Amino acid sequence: MNFDMYMPARVISGEDCVLKNSGKLRQLGNQCLIVTGKHSAKACGALDDVIQALEKENIGYQVFDEVTQNPYVSTCHKAGSVAREIGAQFIIGIGGGSPLDAAKAVAVFTANPQLPPEGIYGSWENKALPFVLVGTTAGTGSEVTAVSVLTNDATGQKKSFKCDQTYAALSFGDPKYTYSLNYDFTVSTALDALCHSVEGLFAAHGNEVSDSYALRAISILGGSLIQLYMHKGDSGEHLPHTLRERLYYASLYGGLVINITGTTFCHALSYILTEDYHISHGKACAVFLAEYIRRAEKADPQKYARFENVLGQHMETFLCLIREMSRMDVKMTPPQIEDYLPRFKGNANFQNTPGIFTLEDTKRVLTELFA
Ligand code: NAP
Ligand code: FE
Repeated sequence: MNFDMYMPARVISGEDCVLKNSGKLRQLGNQCLIVTGKHSAKACGALDDVIQALEKENIGYQVFDEVTQNPYVSTCHKAGSVAREIGAQFIIGIGGGSPLDAAKAVAVFTANPQLPPEGIYGSWENKALPFVLVGTTAGTGSEVTAVSVLTNDATGQKKSFKCDQTYAALSFGDPKYTYSLNYDFTVSTALDALCHSVEGLFAAHGNEVSDSYALRAISILGGSLIQLYMHKGDSGEHLPHTLRERLYYASLYGGLVINITGTTFCHALSYILTEDYHISHGKACAVFLAEYIRRAEKADPQKYARFENVLGQHMETFLCLIREMSRMDVKMTPPQIEDYLPRFKGNANFQNTPGIFTLEDTKRVLTELFA
């Protein structure tokens, strides 16, 4: 078994873990910038808990709440200036994948005043500030990955960066913060965790460690997605907390998977749906999952059998469920599809797909699904 893994994020999980571990924040400095979206950090109680923990430890803070979904590089750059102005020694990101990914970039920008926004995709001089992540969705697993997915202001396209400095010094995983997430985002984020696990299980860069995380996540998600579907029509408020917890831990497993394996063509193509059709991230990835699973079966029948085994349900039933949960109203004309193709020339996620995904495959899949 040959592999090279670096996964240094410290994750503290459990009920009230933020309040119970406030002393660990003290070790990171006496001033910080909190990076969040507009509403959810407050609505779910995480911001109040973080502020209470900071006040207990006499740590100064300022809140920067301008992070949107699919965050812009420019927003992170701006937050970096704010962090420098207040003399922040560390950053705290609170939210779903968007604020958590933004916090990783803010940590880099704060330490590197000369770095222009687009420089985030290159290299920089000073080591990023330490940062803390507090997750409020159950999907991206950003708490445990070094990955940050940002939107380039000039092109409107999403692109990720990742390096050894963008692991959290500390991640807090308290599933109670996800209780306030509405039904649609709960479905979409659960689908994201599923895609991370299934894509990673068959990805070219996988190994036995990532396989074991992936199979564990899939075994949790198989039944949980059915349970979630049975609550269709619910606002999200009445979802059982045990279900929320299972989804949250599955998302952490999924993050551990992609941190090793990276993602595949499903994630690569999802960006088109998010950028041009405003489809939420998880749904945008999951709409391609049936095609991925068909390819996986051909490429590695033995592993496919293990996948089917842990899923705990018949594959056709499962695919119907995914199709239903990722239903979307997207139409593309043949010329539009042609226009998308050059973007994926030499795409690394395509190469990571079992059997290798080509531009011809892209054209066929987009046509079958959306033309
Ligand atoms: P998100 O974009 O962070 O948030 C989606 C929406 O849910 C926002 O409106 C947010 O509100 C709201 N929300 C978040 N937590 C909530 C809560 N507990 N209660 C009520 N509302 C809540 O969603 P996400 O799916 O977690 O993240 C998606 C992003 O992560 C994408 O940019 C994707 O590309 C990226 N991603 C990153 C990785 C990685 O490894 N780093 C992996 C996969 C995907 P506010 O705006 O008020 O916060
Ligand atoms: Fe994802």
